[in-house]
Amino acid sequence: MMSARPIGRVVLGLAAVLLPLAGAQVFTATAAEAATTQAVTLYYDSSDAPDYQSQADQAAANWNGVVHNVQLSSGGSATILIHEVTGGGSYTQTDGHGHGDIYIDVQQVNEGNDPTRILAHEMGHNLGLPDHYEGPCSEIMSGHGPGTSCKNAMPNAQEAAQVDQNFANGFTPALASHLYR
Ligand SMILES: [Zn+2]
Repeated sequence: MMSARPIGRVVLGLAAVLLPLAGAQVFTATAAEAATTQAVTLYYDSSDAPDYQSQADQAAANWNGVVHNVQLSSGGSATILIHEVTGGGSYTQTDGHGHGDIYIDVQQVNEGNDPTRILAHEMGHNLGLPDHYEGPCSEIMSGHGPGTSCKNAMPNAQEAAQVDQNFANGFTPALASHLYR
C-alpha cells in the first residue's frame, strides 16, 4: 500500500462508484431522497456455509426490505464470503463497507441462537454497524445480548437509517472484527 491510510483508499474507491452517479446530492440524501439515488449492490457467497444458505438469503432479504442505499445479492463477484465453522463463535472480519468474511458457528446455533439472526447481525457489520449488546431483541446488533430466546432477525428503523447513512456519505470503517458473543 502506498497510502499512509490504507483503509481510506478502500473508502475512496467505493465513494468513486457513487459520486459520478449521484454527484453532490449524495451528501445530503435522506432516506426519502435515496429512492432516486443509485443503490450500491453488494454480493455475498454462502457456498461455504451449505447448512445456512436459506438463512443467509433471508437475512439479506431482511436488510434489503428496510434499506435503500445498499442492497445485498447472492452471487456475482462476491465481496462478502460466508463460512460455516464449528466452535469459536460467530463473527465477522470486515472493512465495514461491504467487504468481509462472515463465520457462523454451528455450535452456537445448536445452543439455541437463531442462525438467521446471527447472519443478519454479521451482515450488519459488513454494512458498517457496531455491536450494541446491551440493546433489546428488536435490534439486530444486540447480537447474543438478549439471549437465545431472541429470534428476531429484522433490523430496527434506527439501524436501517444508520446503514443508509453509511452508504450515502463519506464513511469511516468500523472495527475489523466483531464477535456475536
Ligand atoms: Zn457483532
